[in-house]
Amino acid sequence: MENNEFHTVRGYQLLEQKKRILTSAMEDYLEMIYRNSIDEGYIRMSTLAELLHVKAASASRMVQRLGELGFLIYKKYGIIVLSEDGKAIGEYLLKRHRIIENFLRLISCEDNLLQQTELMEHDLTPNTVCRINIMNSFFTDNIEIYEHFLEYQTTRPLTVSTCDYV
Ligand code: ZN
Repeated sequence: MENNEFHTVRGYQLLEQKKRILTSAMEDYLEMIYRNSIDEGYIRMSTLAELLHVKAASASRMVQRLGELGFLIYKKYGIIVLSEDGKAIGEYLLKRHRIIENFLRLISCEDNLLQQTELMEHDLTPNTVCRINIMNSFFTDNIEIYEHFLEYQTTRPLTVSTCDYV
């Protein structure tokens, strides 16, 4: 197993263990911290609050809580560094986000893409995320079939009332 893959597996195992304590908001924080500290190894509290569109005080409260849970270390001068557990979860959360976003793009849902991804991601099980990922790969590995799908899509009405039940 590649190191990267090992991390992700550890990430969702941890997430499964902690799902009773980790709220959707906490997941958003961990994902955002991970996403923005990959290069430099840290993120500043002020940057985090800005990216999440929250007040500094709420960001600070949440960061403190995540620190108590052992997902990050809050250092001097507003510097936040993820712990190994925090990194593993963050990596899985970012992958999950990208898989859902990719899926929505593939089925041509481009409106409020970010918001819709955020709404969908939190409640899916790792198994469901993996299955969606397989479908994404199937489409990208079989471009002709995907093009066929896109063409088919244009022939179907875009109203729920006319959708057939399967
Ligand atoms: Zn997300």
